[in-house]
Amino acid sequence: MRAEIIAIGSELLTPYRLDTNSLFLTKRLNSIGIEVCRKEVVGDDRRSLDVAVGDAFRDGPGELLILMGGLGPTEDDRTRDAVSQALGRRQYLDDAHAERMRERFRARNMPMPEINLRQAMILEGAEILENTKGTAPGQWIADSGKFVVLLPGPPHELETMFDKEVMPRLEKVAPPHHLITRVLKISGQFESYVDATAAPIYRQYENPETTILAAPGEIQLHLRGTGATEAEARERVNELAEKLKIALSDSVFTENNEMMEEVLARLLLTRGLTLAAAESCTGGLVGERLTRVPGSSKYFLGGVVSYSNQAKMDLLGVPKRVLESEGAVSAETARLMAEGVRRAFHAGIGIAVTGIAGPSNDGTDKPVGLVYAAIADDAGHRVAERKFLGDRERVRVQAAQLALDMVRRRLASLTL
Ligand code: ATP
Ligand code: MG
Repeated sequence: MRAEIIAIGSELLTPYRLDTNSLFLTKRLNSIGIEVCRKEVVGDDRRSLDVAVGDAFRDGPGELLILMGGLGPTEDDRTRDAVSQALGRRQYLDDAHAERMRERFRARNMPMPEINLRQAMILEGAEILENTKGTAPGQWIADSGKFVVLLPGPPHELETMFDKEVMPRLEKVAPPHHLITRVLKISGQFESYVDATAAPIYRQYENPETTILAAPGEIQLHLRGTGATEAEARERVNELAEKLKIALSDSVFTENNEMMEEVLARLLLTRGLTLAAAESCTGGLVGERLTRVPGSSKYFLGGVVSYSNQAKMDLLGVPKRVLESEGAVSAETARLMAEGVRRAFHAGIGIAVTGIAGPSNDGTDKPVGLVYAAIADDAGHRVAERKFLGDRERVRVQAAQLALDMVRRRLASLTL
């Protein structure tokens, strides 16, 4: 079964309110193997609403159509009317529900405004979905092989109603179907390379479905497999993940959607190694990321943000002549920073980043985006040079990722 979601409310078309309900719904639907194939946001405007609902009901790809919002009592709440028109079903006043609403008001010692009765208008043939958190009931309609569901907009009302009223109905009408997702993350490679390597493999599979996403400093492969049982879905996803892992080899830093710093935590802890970082262009980003992981104090000893040349000399022992002859952004400076911070913190591993984040360069002929990262340990050192694209923020993020990835590659090659 596939689902289509329509979020209704003009405020969702402004920069101030985001449609978060559909994220909740998608998560729940996915958990029972229902995929969302389309979603849409429509304002409280009757014409747009008629078009959207009519189109989704007649021609939409989903067998399940979920509409949310616009069930309130006021004139601008028009969802019921639009569905009534699209499905050709009349509405009637449900006396039992009207009475329940009157009771809610009585309990608060308030008279119920007549206009609220609009909320007790039910489409012919609909099942009423009880709203334990508010007044507007939801509705469930089976029509022409499709299911149309109306839910209230306020997130806490929608969430409770969905779990209590909609999930049990869906489990009955949707054949058992399980969805498993796995995320492989790749570092140090271009998206074009990853796709050229991975596509010939994942294209052989319709199930799992694979999507490739680029994030700063990493490429992600999202695998989504379905099966009649959870084990079957998992087996399908694992089979493809295994093949992709072999093809992309050590560029894959996680098969379980971990962050790079979590992967490092595991590697450092199992090897009993410690780490210190010297940062220039990343201004502390490497240290910030390492310390996101709870328990990082066991292996991350600390860092130096040596932004100025003076700090590189005073705190890390980079000789003045190197800074003058090679420049602050150079392979030699990066190496000396890594060795210096390793020494200063008595760490097993020292890493360093120096580069030109932009938007303007450092007055030399070196280009914006040029970054050197270095790693130093017992076995010696390694320096990487990259020319990153993107704005200042992207260069910094990619530079930090490069430094962390060098640690990962170094540790992965160290057998236990
Ligand atoms: P009510 O009975 O409260 O009028 P309603 O069904 O008419 O219910 P709306 O008026 O459309 O719901 O929305 C009520 C509140 O819920 C608003 O604050 C709105 O911004 C929020 N809301 C509506 N839809 C969404 C959504 N898709 N995601 C997140 N918040 C939403
Ligand atoms: Mg509204």
